[in-house]
Amino acid sequence: MMDINNIPDHPVVQNMMGTGTPDGELATEHICPKCGEYCDFFYLDMDKEIVGCENCIAMYDAEDYYLEHEENDDREE
Ligand SMILES: [Zn+2]
Repeated sequence: MMDINNIPDHPVVQNMMGTGTPDGELATEHICPKCGEYCDFFYLDMDKEIVGCENCIAMYDAEDYYLEHEENDDREE
């Protein structure tokens, strides 16, 4: 009888477990120019300039930001 626990994984599965990529090539590591951390994604502004990565960009509630910075708001009314 076949032992289902001893079936070798498909090579792609073995590569994914070993390197995290299907072809067994190690993924190129990219460093964020803003925070210096290794990252997988860059966030770009409208001019396609890198503004940060998943390690150093955070979403912030616009209303909270406005309320917390209201006392420093030097806009002319
Ligand atoms: Zn970053």
